Formats: sequence, C-alpha cells, structure tokens
Amino acid sequence: MNAPLPEVIKQHLIDPEICIRCNTCEETCPVDAITHDSRNYVVDADKCNLCMACVPPCPTGSIDNWRTMLRVEAYSTEAQLTWDELPSEKALGVAVGDATAEAVPLAAEAASAAEAPQAAASAGADLVPGSQMPPWSAAHPYVNLYGHRNPVTATVAGNYRVTELGTDSDTHHLVLDFGVTPFPVLEGQSLGILPPGTDAHGRAHHARQYSIANPRDGERPGYNNVSLTVKRVLVDHEGRPVRGVASNYLCDLKKGDTVQVIGPFGSSFLMPNHAGSNLLMICTGTGSAPMRAMTERRRRRRAAGEGEGGRLMLFFGARTQQELPYFGPLTKLPDDFIDIEFAFSRVPGQPRRYVQDAMRERAGDVASLLQDEATHVYVCGLKGMETGVLEALRDVAATHGIDWAGLHARMKAEGRLHFETY
Ligand code: NAP
Repeated sequence: MNAPLPEVIKQHLIDPEICIRCNTCEETCPVDAITHDSRNYVVDADKCNLCMACVPPCPTGSIDNWRTMLRVEAYSTEAQLTWDELPSEKALGVAVGDATAEAVPLAAEAASAAEAPQAAASAGADLVPGSQMPPWSAAHPYVNLYGHRNPVTATVAGNYRVTELGTDSDTHHLVLDFGVTPFPVLEGQSLGILPPGTDAHGRAHHARQYSIANPRDGERPGYNNVSLTVKRVLVDHEGRPVRGVASNYLCDLKKGDTVQVIGPFGSSFLMPNHAGSNLLMICTGTGSAPMRAMTERRRRRRAAGEGEGGRLMLFFGARTQQELPYFGPLTKLPDDFIDIEFAFSRVPGQPRRYVQDAMRERAGDVASLLQDEATHVYVCGLKGMETGVLEALRDVAATHGIDWAGLHARMKAEGRLHFETY
C-alpha cells in the first residue's frame, strides 16, 4: 500500500535578529505573504510562492532564510511573531526514502533561486519603482560587516541641531567615530542603530535604519567617522503624540557617549563615479542625508581638482526654510556646482509647494537631464513622495517628447533610478 507522500516545502523566513524593520519586503511582496507587528516581520507559508521579489530590495539579507519543512509542520505566522532568533534547521519527521522523491525538486528550486541573485533581481524588478542595480561606475560597497550579534561601538563626536530653534522640526546632525574599528561606507549606504533598553514586552529594541550623510572618506576627511541626519519624532504619521525610541535617544546623545551600530547596508543606492555623470537628487526632510553625502563627495573632488564634471541638480522639500536641514550650508554652494530648487509646503500666506511641483516648474532642465544617459536619479524621503515624483518625471518626459515608459525601464535596468523612502 502506498500512503500519499507528505509535502515538503522550503519555508521562507525572516531573521528577526538581522531585520531592521524597513518594511521593504512587505511593500514588495506581490501576494501579501509578508506581515508584521511591533516586534517581527513574518512570512505566511500558505501564501508565499517563492517568487523572490522581496529578496533583492532587502538591505540586510535578513529576508534570505529558508528551512526545509514538512508543510504540515511549517512555522505559523503567530509562532514567527514570537521569535527573537531563527530556529535551526530540524530533521524532517518522515522516512527520508519516502519523502525525498517529492521533496527534492521543490526544495532544490527554492535553494537555487536563493542562490541566484540576478534571477531574483529580475523577478522583483517590475514590483519596485527603482533600480536594484548600482550604477556601472559605483564603487563596490561593504555590507553587513556587523549584525545584532556583533555590533560595533561608536563614540559620539558631535551632535548639532540643523533646523532653526523654535520650529517643530528638531533635526540633528550626529557624528559617530569608529576609532580604529573598520566601518567602511559609501555615499547612499545606511547603518542600523541599536537603541539601549527594552520595549513594552521586555525585549531589546530592534535596530533603526539611518542613511549615512557623509562621503566615503569620512565626515571629516581622512577620519573613520560617519554622520547621520536624525529628526526627533514626537508625533506619528497621523499626528498623535508618540516618542520615537531611537530618534530621541540619538538627538539627546552628548559628545563622548557611545552607541551600538550595525551595518553598513545597501548595495544599489550608490553614486556613479565616471566622468561626466550627472546627479538628479530629489528629497524631503531628513531624506537629504544621502544627497548631502553625494554632493559633498563631488564638492571635495572638485575642490581637489579631480572633479567628475557632470551636472548636479537638487530638489529639496521641507515645511519651511527654517525646518530644512542644512539650509545655511546648502545656500553657500556655488551655482556652477549645483542647481538647487527648494520646495516649501507650509510657509504662511503661500500655497503649498512640493518637490514634484518644483520639478514641473523646472521641466526644461529636468528633461535635459533625463535625455542624457549619464544622468542618475536619486529619490529619498517620505514614502508618499514616491508616486508624486514618478508622475512628475512622467509628465516632464511627456511634454518633451520622451517615451517615459521606455526610459523608466532602461534607467531601472541601468542602475540609474533609485528610491529610498520610508
Ligand atoms: P517632513 O518634515 O515630514 O516632510 C518634508 C516635506 O515633505 C514637507 O514639506 C512635507 O509637506 C512634504 N511632503 C509630505 N508629503 C509629501 C508628498 N506626498 N510628496 C512630496 N512631498 C511631501 O519630513 P521628515 O519628517 O524629515 O521625513 C523625511 C522622511 O525621510 C521620513 O519618512 C524618514 O523616515 C525618511 N528618511 C530618513 C532618512 C534618514 O537617514 N534620517 C533616510 C531615508 C529616508 P507637508 O508635511 O507640509 O505636507
């Protein structure tokens, strides 16, 4: 008598120790298999079809975990929500001789997909608006040098407010020094901060991700330090009072305090390095961090007589001039180095203006950049700006006879259109 073989699956799991809760996987998943609570991001084995769309966008690799399981023994989402670490691989609860005939093909399929990042990248490509490839001339990044099990200690070398006093936006420029511990970064990468203490359930706080705001040779050139742009969170997205755990911790740090850091993260939101490459940068609020890093990289290179040339154009949105991080230093950059267009949304007596409005007003210059294949576009800031910016690019293209659908696809494939929004 032949009993039916139990189904064996390759169960897709997210490592709670590495995950920085950036929500990218949940946004990318085409079948809504990924959900989260205040503690963990989890994958529903009944919904996951192993399409791999979520794997390339994950900045940490925490998404890329698999366990060979009997389907009937697959970990439920409820169980995953309680985890502090991934369970180890368990032995299958069936006689191997019976199960493997059915099991191996499916398991092998998932494993080979997991080991084929290019295939995975193309599987997810249609689901995200930007590139999963770096520019061809990007420098090679180091990623995941430090995780939750081996965080690195950095010392606060400075903590300065970069928005005017008396405004609601208390945004800080924080400098972290790594001493002699390696923490190599590139412009556009991010890191994770592990806030001290525990959450309401008595568990360690999970890591919070921040973009690096300095160029690769250090916040101070030649020093092993990085800078972050951190806005103190005192209300949630609906305007209800809430005290952001990591942002308040970071904004209150004093010079000499120490911080636990993981990372670096990010291997596609990177700048081009070839001669003549243009940067079109679009950001809101603290999303300016990577734009500052890239701009400062180009400024230093130019000052040293080694500049790449190329055009730099920045659209920068904030509520008011007083709430725009780095307003003073930005206005001191020469016009022949960077073309800056501010968009303020809450200036009393003036209509609301967003970055996408400013892009439409400067359509001629944006179109001229889009027509140049040396142009690389970076968008960073609020999640909500993503659609608006894409629509503005589409409209600018349309009014200048550019086939946006074709150009959009090409820019994504060529690592020339990047989004980092939360
Ligand atoms: P914010 O002050 O809340 O907003 C900045 C500007 O964006 C305001 O003028 C705002 O206008 C405008 N805005 C709101 N909705 C928009 C939309 N749909 N399209 C275009 N503009 C829009 O910004 P923030 O608090 O600094 O937040 C910045 C975001 O960047 C956060 O979501 C943060 O997570 C993210 N981010 C931060 C970092 C970092 O390293 N710190 C890195 C990457 C991303 P109104 O509010 O007046 O409508």
